[in-house]
Amino acid sequence: MTSVPVPFDGHALSPETTAFLGQTHRLLINGEWVDGSGDMETRDPATGLALTRFHIGGVAEVDHAVKAARAAFEGPWGRMTVADRTAMLHKLARVMDANATLLTELDIIDNGMPRFIAGLTTANCVEMIDYYAGAVMRIEGTTIAPPRHIAAETEALTYTLREPVGVAAQIVPWNVPLSTAILKLAPALAAGCTVIVKPSEETPLSVLALGQMILDAGLPAGVVNIINGVGAQAGQALAEHPGVDKISFTGSTATGKRIIQAALGNLKKVSLELGGKSPVVVMPDADLSIAIPGVALATFFLQGQNCMAGTRIFAHAAIHDELMEGLAAFAGGMTLGHGLDPATVQGPMISDAHSAKVMGYIDGAKAQGLTLVAGGQKLDRPGNFIQPTIFTGCDNAMPIMREEIFGPVMAVQKIETDDLDAIAALANDTPYGLSGSVWTRDLSTAHRLVKRIRSGHVSINCHGAVGTNIPFGGYGQSGWGREFGQEGLDAYLETKAVTARL
Ligand code: NAD
Repeated sequence: MTSVPVPFDGHALSPETTAFLGQTHRLLINGEWVDGSGDMETRDPATGLALTRFHIGGVAEVDHAVKAARAAFEGPWGRMTVADRTAMLHKLARVMDANATLLTELDIIDNGMPRFIAGLTTANCVEMIDYYAGAVMRIEGTTIAPPRHIAAETEALTYTLREPVGVAAQIVPWNVPLSTAILKLAPALAAGCTVIVKPSEETPLSVLALGQMILDAGLPAGVVNIINGVGAQAGQALAEHPGVDKISFTGSTATGKRIIQAALGNLKKVSLELGGKSPVVVMPDADLSIAIPGVALATFFLQGQNCMAGTRIFAHAAIHDELMEGLAAFAGGMTLGHGLDPATVQGPMISDAHSAKVMGYIDGAKAQGLTLVAGGQKLDRPGNFIQPTIFTGCDNAMPIMREEIFGPVMAVQKIETDDLDAIAALANDTPYGLSGSVWTRDLSTAHRLVKRIRSGHVSINCHGAVGTNIPFGGYGQSGWGREFGQEGLDAYLETKAVTARL
């Protein structure tokens, strides 16, 4: 029997979040909240109940926002001293910190993520704004020997300037809504760019709340514009717009390829953070007391709706059975529920359509006769809760091992070899290259294997060890460029070389 959904499963929301849901949610263009050309509804994926409606934009609203961003870039933001820009970003961090409960609860109810993850990502967002605020005054060029043909004639000086790319469009997915917007906004603003952010139509709310904080922190009109909308309309219009100098996109590899096509018109700079199907290699000497929870969470963290999820497990035959026993016990002990419940460690799938896609892979694996070690069912309750699921007996050629499922589904292949080249060949047999991990007590094995794995981010005895100051991005079809750290800032800077005859 399916029970009748109760708002937030009976868990209380803070007064500020309740008040926010009661507001009208417009577009932020040129420092003002303006009407869109239509509206949509957003739902709590843990109950299926409607949360609120929000305005959406298309070609006309995108054009308006791009013009506002251009005016701010050439006007107040471009003319502001770096000291003032630094202070303003630190002020934004303080405003966000003061509103952390609102930001955290909005990501819980709009995305379905558990509270411990939402709280962590909000804190990381504040840290990220402070980190890039601190980087503003460290944007530096270099002095270089002048060219021979000029230096032969006269004294000369050659140096480089680092200048902002200009107007940046930033398109983000639904799986970590606030965090993905901030890790694009913070370096762009630090570099001196102005931006138009397009959140996912599945999760518009936390970025809208951020918009008011940006106004409250005193950023000039037009520096940050927020256009909610459908990807094929608002997103496509941003990717095509000739007034946009750079597009930064996080989302699926299929959409990333469309963005590249759309950006061709004015050859805008493109950075892409795309999908993944990351390998996890567990060697015979792995410390299973850390490998069991670590490997389980490599797949199940954020209900598997996680770009760096380690979902292809290569388990050495020597530890395979013990690992499976431990993983099954861990998965069986995970508490599924509403993200507002502090006991919840795994939330729902984002939508009915996505849940059906994930269950399609599970049913396909069952039909193929793979060994089901844990889970395999969708819970009979409102919301789309899928049990943490583990299949073993998999082969790297199977869809479950090759395709990004983006759900709590682990595929395990038993390996018999100790040959690191052979293991790396299996790990690298994928179009993706975003993350990965190696579990062993042997330092030499660990570093030799890491060197052989073609991926932008590989961890040893842990998985997905991302941080504000650590570059993150993909090899292969997992993307172009890096975010976080200094490389994240460089993505929003041009280099101008200057030579002066003296
Ligand atoms: P998606 O590609 O469907 O959508 C992402 C964003 O693009 C949304 O805002 C959407 O509205 C917009 N969009 C859709 N079609 C568009 C178009 N034609 N032109 C412009 N914009 C368009 O992805 P999703 O389902 O929201 O997110 C899940 C995907 O994101 C997964 O593949 C995951 O691996 C990936 N992801 C990658 C990273 C990373 O850092 N590499 C991080 C998070 C998520």
